[in-house]
Amino acid sequence: MHQIIIIGSGPAGLTAGIYAARAGLEPVLFASSVSPGGELMNTTEVENFPGFPEGIQGPELMEKIQSQAERFGTKVEYADVSELDLDGDVKRVTTADGNVHEAKTVIFATGSAYRKLGIADEERLSGHGVSWCATCDGFFFREKTIAVIGGGDSAMEEATFLTRFASKVYVIHRRDSLKASKIMQQRAFDNEKIEFIWNAEVTAIHGETEATGVRLNDTVTGEERDLDLDGVFIAIGNDPRTHLVHGKLDLTEDGTIAVEGRTSKTSIPGVFAAGDVIDASYRQAITAAGSGTVAALDAEHYLAALEDN
Ligand code: NAP
Repeated sequence: MHQIIIIGSGPAGLTAGIYAARAGLEPVLFASSVSPGGELMNTTEVENFPGFPEGIQGPELMEKIQSQAERFGTKVEYADVSELDLDGDVKRVTTADGNVHEAKTVIFATGSAYRKLGIADEERLSGHGVSWCATCDGFFFREKTIAVIGGGDSAMEEATFLTRFASKVYVIHRRDSLKASKIMQQRAFDNEKIEFIWNAEVTAIHGETEATGVRLNDTVTGEERDLDLDGVFIAIGNDPRTHLVHGKLDLTEDGTIAVEGRTSKTSIPGVFAAGDVIDASYRQAITAAGSGTVAALDAEHYLAALEDN
């Protein structure tokens, strides 16, 4: 039986790995078989992670954090967790291949998933001109006209990045002011290829087999109009990825996993949570890494108390 199983390979999970491994707990970390490394794998330049004054590419940062975790003995397994049995002293983690892994503690750091607009067309045209990932798909929109939906840092980052390829990038936002940080806003405002469409809600995405445009509803006047586009990038935030623990761990009103105060302790002893999955407010790589640290230390103390009993 393992001392610690960590689920998730973003900054939270891997930092928990660094701390748990350095504490001699030989953690096993399950990373997604398809998209390990978490959200930073879809990011370009990370400018605000301390220690990298010139900035660092998201995937390179994740590679460095992973090799740091592995250097101290974290065993990274690329397998998707399909089921969890968290009650009792022995926690059971089942992976998609049917294998069951047992541990005394589990750190849950599954991050968050792209939020959807909730309109029928977005699923239908997903991968056909509708995307949630500029770094993955931006390349296909060379000299095209595209739109980014959203008003936060993600939308500004995606829009700015997409101007490398597209000839024109609209930012469609449902209000008349942005949620994004000042520096990201200014960068987008200063970019000649970016045009803002304010107070606009996307009510439909047009196109039979490929996205050809959107229908916009003016939230002030109620007027509707169509906008021709070659592509639509949706960047309206993320939701915590909690489907594996529904009905098992207590959740907050925001849908994140509930933890005790500033700790990582969930509603089940021996189960800890860290990163975006517990955080509806900050959601930064560095706060996730800090949260992973807290979870590893909490797990370490829990295991030490088990030994004492
Ligand atoms: P966010 O800050 O929650 O912003 C989401 C944006 O999408 C908001 O402007 C929101 O509008 C809009 N929105 C939400 N639901 C919508 C819907 N159904 N239809 C239309 N618009 C909708 O999410 P985020 O931009 O992904 O950022 C999340 C966190 O990651 C933040 O803490 C951010 O600072 C961080 N982040 C940082 C960086 C960076 O520092 N380089 C880069 C990316 C993300 P309202 O404004 O009207 O609510």
